[in-house]
Amino acid sequence: MSLTPHLLDRLASLTSIRDLELLEFSMLKTVHELFRPEQVMMLKYDSDGEVRFTLRYGHNGNYDSQTLRKKLIDEPEVLSALHISRRLKTTYHSKKANGNHISIYPVLDLQLLSVALVVESRRINSQNDSRVIHALLQIYRNFCQLIEDSQRDQLTGLLNRKTFDDSIQRVIGMSSERFPSFGDDDRRASVEGEPVYSLGLIDIDNFKQINDTLGHIYGDEVLLLMSQIMRHTFRESDLIFRFGGEEFVVITETDSTDTAMVAFERFRAAIDEYAFPQVSHVTVSIGVVEVNSMDVVHTLLDRADKALYYAKNHGKNRVCSYKELLERGAVKEPTYSSGDIELF
Ligand code: GH3
Ligand code: MG
Ligand code: MG
Repeated sequence: MSLTPHLLDRLASLTSIRDLELLEFSMLKTVHELFRPEQVMMLKYDSDGEVRFTLRYGHNGNYDSQTLRKKLIDEPEVLSALHISRRLKTTYHSKKANGNHISIYPVLDLQLLSVALVVESRRINSQNDSRVIHALLQIYRNFCQLIEDSQRDQLTGLLNRKTFDDSIQRVIGMSSERFPSFGDDDRRASVEGEPVYSLGLIDIDNFKQINDTLGHIYGDEVLLLMSQIMRHTFRESDLIFRFGGEEFVVITETDSTDTAMVAFERFRAAIDEYAFPQVSHVTVSIGVVEVNSMDVVHTLLDRADKALYYAKNHGKNRVCSYKELLERGAVKEPTYSSGDIELF
């Protein structure tokens, strides 16, 4: 398995990660205060069953949190109980060689990441203990659902603009440092093995006309169908946002800029070929920009917008790369004054 975590793994719950961490900590503390176990842990593991994150509260109140890409737990008895619980999709109790009882409670089973609670105690958990733990876990699940709902756009179910604003800085932070973007050498080279993040600004062509001739309900239907096609076309690990009315942003994680361009082109073609009910033919224009660790958000969006604008002025229904336009002199890099920093 690749050690490079996917975008979503890295961004975890995007905006509210701190709130979630506080809730997780408080849940472990509560379990500890109620039952005085030897230790209580929250484990997050990926679809391969590999533990990526642990939050541990020890019997003497010791607390630690670790996020690693390597082996986090070297307790074979806990790992094998986790494995069984994961397979059976149910709470699983077993006993360690030292006589301690361990209970694994499945908490969440998501596509990229699953969560389990591990309680290790000297005495066996009573049914009542389990009931209390299940109730606490339900509060945690409800809270996760609330976070999830607040991050999504109501019509399309895609990530909303607020989530974009809250998480784009982290995507920029995740991008590797490359050679200066547009310096003397004028070359951006991917760092070997490091993923490349690209941002595509997608705008529906002549959308006003669809609304004007068929009405808003049909316009909304197009937005909904388009968001479904997006989910199918892009990878699970890509981030898809409804950016504004009929504008979307997709952030891809690929091994090269070319691969990202192929993905955006595949989406453009899928829309071009799709027979939308009533409206029939709908097209999109896309401006793509590579994300660099040195970028600031508004510069990045400005560049994507320039590439999109170019696509709109050159027949629409096309994907334009800012880098490629810049290389052939079709757009100019805007000059930003030193005081021109982050505006939103
Ligand atoms: P272009 O090809 O240049 O992008 O033309 P356009 O008509 O798509 O662009 P313009 O920005 O002029 O119009 C966008 C329209 O999108 C305006 C508004 O009627 C429509 N719109 C924006 N948000 C929504 C929405 O949530 N639902 C519906 N049905 N329409 C929306
Ligand atoms: Mg628009
Ligand atoms: Mg438009």
